[in-house]
Amino acid sequence: MWQRSYPRKYGLEVTEQEGACVKAARCRFCKYYDRQVPLSNRKRGPRKTDQFYTVPFRADLIVKHLEGQHTDKWAEYVAMSTSEQDMFFNLVQPRANTMYHYMDMEGDEINLVVSTKIVDVIIDEMLFRPEDELDAANDDDLAGISDRNRNIEKLRRNAL
Ligand SMILES: [Zn+2]
Repeated sequence: MWQRSYPRKYGLEVTEQEGACVKAARCRFCKYYDRQVPLSNRKRGPRKTDQFYTVPFRADLIVKHLEGQHTDKWAEYVAMSTSEQDMFFNLVQPRANTMYHYMDMEGDEINLVVSTKIVDVIIDEMLFRPEDELDAANDDDLAGISDRNRNIEKLRRNAL
């Protein structure tokens, strides 16, 4: 059964509650820190999902998770005073808010997905400025520049 001491004792956060009855809780070590993986088992990297608990909230399983998945942080936490424990998660960014949560930390590459719209704007509007191309071209000779820029130039001349 859920105990009122659990949030501090095991670093849990209530996620679902009906009246005074707690239905589900989340491991805050998972929320704020990565899970730890034994060196012998590094191939797949740590699981990135948060651990949730539901009724009947078995303390032995909660402790097993903490000792196995958050070995160092849990050891640090257990050695703290209760007021230190209350502060433990306060200054930490949840993992989901950090960039590295979305990266493969084991690999050497960073792959970012950029939408084609953004690429089009960068290449079309920022790198190839029509004005630069036109400055380089002879005013009377608009050959040698793209149709698009020729049209822009025509519009500009008509506007003068
Ligand atoms: Zn956890």
